[in-house]
Amino acid sequence: MKKFDVIVVGAGPAGSTAARFCSEAGLKSAIIEKEKLPRVKACAGGVIPAGLRFCNIDLPDDLIENKCDKIKLSYKRYRRIVKIQEPIYMVERSRFDMFLTEEAIKMGAKLKEEEKLIDLKYKNDQLIITTSQDQYRTKILIAADGYFSTVRKTLGISLNVKDSPIAIEATIPMDRDEIYSRFNRSVSVHYIPGLFGYAWIFPKKNHISAGLGSFIRPPKSIKNTFFNFLALHHLKAQSKIKSWFLPPSDGYHNLVYDGIMLTGDAAGFVDAFTGEGIRYAMISGKLAALTAVECFKKRNFSNDCLVSYNDLCNKFIIPNLAYSKRISYYIYRYSWFTIPAAFKNKELLEMYANTLFGYGNYKNLISWIKPKMPFIFIKRFLPS
Ligand SMILES: Cc1cc2nc3c(=O)[nH]c(=O)nc-3n(C[C@H](O)[C@H](O)[C@H](O)COP(=O)(O)OP(=O)(O)OC[C@H]3O[C@@H](n4cnc5c(N)ncnc54)[C@H](O)[C@@H]3O)c2cc1C
Repeated sequence: MKKFDVIVVGAGPAGSTAARFCSEAGLKSAIIEKEKLPRVKACAGGVIPAGLRFCNIDLPDDLIENKCDKIKLSYKRYRRIVKIQEPIYMVERSRFDMFLTEEAIKMGAKLKEEEKLIDLKYKNDQLIITTSQDQYRTKILIAADGYFSTVRKTLGISLNVKDSPIAIEATIPMDRDEIYSRFNRSVSVHYIPGLFGYAWIFPKKNHISAGLGSFIRPPKSIKNTFFNFLALHHLKAQSKIKSWFLPPSDGYHNLVYDGIMLTGDAAGFVDAFTGEGIRYAMISGKLAALTAVECFKKRNFSNDCLVSYNDLCNKFIIPNLAYSKRISYYIYRYSWFTIPAAFKNKELLEMYANTLFGYGNYKNLISWIKPKMPFIFIKRFLPS
């Protein structure tokens, strides 16, 4: 039976980042990935540079398909354009994820692709892992296997898929001139009544990503809403549209089990207001790796040591996501009031857009809004 210090399950942004930091620190690490890489992932591919910085990742220019520094917002008859503090990078997920995996391999991580984790058992202070091809022993397992995490299932943590947020995406080829004239360096965000979320258009190099996310109570007719949105913008999905669930947002209460740490979507880390998850996947991957390295230094693989991962997530990730969940509920539930109110207040809209795209946090946004509520309330009902 092959032995590794750390086994990471899943080669998405969470898994590859975790494997890279473990290997960099000298731990013998492997990534187990069920797909052949590069693999397709339903995603709009908007990456906030703050997440890359946290993980010391310098994206090569050829991976950045566009840098967008404006958001075109719309809701019913309202239209606004807001400049954001720092451009958001547009990437193609299969290439972006492959790059992160290659960085981990460069540091020494072994990639086991087309190999699916099937079962795991904790015995005598170590984990026995069974995949579709082999069996492995490890002291620590980092679960980065996404929304339907097999690791989480083996721990008996179930998901309520019925009310899960959902997102749909289509990649639409378009020539560069048309992208330039129609979208240039702007991402479009359209709030749609009854969707409890928004539709987007993200311009890339030779295509755009169009999609929509519904965050609090996905309507049954979500595909029709998407096709109507495309028609309204004279767009046609030429390939298969992809849809995927988004996790419950502020994470599971406990992220540490015997020898196991949950990261990324497997841990429930997605912004409930925007659907952004890549940043939190990478950050949690790094935090899990730092914890693993610390436990190896202390030769302590018990939960007493691993539990510091919970503390790190409580410091760097969970508070913002918990606020995003609350904000998401109120903004989408009462969108007839909240969105026009924001659209009518330039300063609020800028704060809101910058928070939406990762500059600033929801707590500060709420503290900023609270004393101004009466003014915002009155302005909402004045003619524009
Ligand atoms: C339509 C859509 C649009 C989105 N747009 C954005 C966006 O623009 N920006 C953003 O920040 N976030 C976006 N997100 C969210 C983002 O895609 C996720 O939060 C992110 O991919 C999570 O990364 P991860 O590494 O945790 O999991 P994933 O990227 O899902 O990777 C998990 C990996 O685990 C592998 N795996 C699963 N089970 C097993 C198993 N049993 N054995 C071995 N391997 C396994 C999978 O094959 C996969 O490669 C979007 C999501 C959707 C659905």
